[in-house]
Amino acid sequence: MSKIEMKTPLVEMDGDEMTRILWQMIKEELITPFVDLKSEYYDLGLEHRNETNDQVTVDSAEATKKYGVAVKCATITPNAARMEEYDLKEMWKSPNGTIRAILDGTVFRAPIIVKGIEPCVGNWKKPITIARHAYGDVYKASEMKIDGPGKVELVYTKEDGTEVRELVHNFTGAGVVQGQHNLCNSIDSFARSCFNFALDSKQDLWFATKDTISKKYDHTFKDIFQEIYDAEYKDKFEAAGIEYFYTLIDDAVARVMKSEGGFIWACKNYDGDVMSDMLSSAFGSLAMMTSVLVSPQGYFEYEAAHGTVQRHYYKHLKGEETSTNSVATIFAWSGALRKRGELDELPDLMKFADQLEKACIDTIESGKMTGDLARITTLENPTVLNSRDFIVAIRETLESYV
Ligand code: NAP
Ligand code: MG
Repeated sequence: MSKIEMKTPLVEMDGDEMTRILWQMIKEELITPFVDLKSEYYDLGLEHRNETNDQVTVDSAEATKKYGVAVKCATITPNAARMEEYDLKEMWKSPNGTIRAILDGTVFRAPIIVKGIEPCVGNWKKPITIARHAYGDVYKASEMKIDGPGKVELVYTKEDGTEVRELVHNFTGAGVVQGQHNLCNSIDSFARSCFNFALDSKQDLWFATKDTISKKYDHTFKDIFQEIYDAEYKDKFEAAGIEYFYTLIDDAVARVMKSEGGFIWACKNYDGDVMSDMLSSAFGSLAMMTSVLVSPQGYFEYEAAHGTVQRHYYKHLKGEETSTNSVATIFAWSGALRKRGELDELPDLMKFADQLEKACIDTIESGKMTGDLARITTLENPTVLNSRDFIVAIRETLESYV
């Protein structure tokens, strides 16, 4: 059988621990036997990040700007324990943070739906994708404890020295105070990423804030979305038969619970943090969640939503059998290959990506799965496979299609 050709290389970002082991197996069993893989390889494993003083992370993000599409393995974000474990020169920053800062994107996360892993919410038939704004608000706030009576004000000193003041509160006793900010440029990028992703995936876009209470702060988010939509996206959305829908955050939450799913829910930073954890656990498992970073310039970086699955890796190192779920990492590959196929007009590559995803789903629905899914499935007598055998089972399903 001849392999599927590629034109432009994928930016391949290898990672750490158990997901690095899965990465190799996925390439061996599910990618290179079928695709004449062109990739520019960057080793983001912690040892190599340390050797290169983290330059490799920056280089991989720059390469993503050059080629447009990357696929990333989960990576360790160093902490004190990792400093010792890997004898690090410095506590290197989170690779995801570094890459996000360079590509300036929004992260979209969606559950992978299979029969037998049922959402807790019975009426959810289709995935709900969360688009989380990744800048500002409470994550970049200044805070103060107020220990007694006194006046707290917001003071904006312009470059020419003039001041604008706004009373926060006249304290008569102790309390707390917080100053948040965001940037119109960042909100603008967030909005464009969401509109582009909605067009790309042909799904409605919902956005919600608390603009009735926060008449300047949250209202600015609402206004920027609306202005960009009216000026640049309205016609495209109508042509694609999709809708942009703005509502209050509390109304959105109530509607989400009653919905069938099948839309993108754009969230401010804090709402996205909280709601994505709620959605992923309500849909089943973090190992069944796709994640893609989309930049306003149209660069795409695909990854799994989970981490490096450290506990399984230590078992693997001791020679014990593991049953680690590779679905999210396989979907990172299929997502990246499909996007490459779309950009380079390679229908065979796009079809391969679809079939690879279908093979994962069909394998699980046939009762073959990893331990994490076996624990929550509604299918009777599931067959629990180890990490490699599960990937081999997916390969067998894939080969049965031709
Ligand atoms: P984790 O790797 O997501 O794993 C947490 C637990 O979730 C695992 O111990 C396992 O539970 C379960 N799990 C996650 N993915 C699974 C899979 N594919 N198959 C089966 N079970 C799975 O999170 P963590 O242990 O908190 O973090 C480990 C490392 O990952 C950290 O160094 C962190 O910095 C890094 N991390 C990276 C990313 C990223 O690169 N995107 C994201 C998050 C964390 P059981 O042990 O109960 O089986
Ligand atoms: Mg969270």
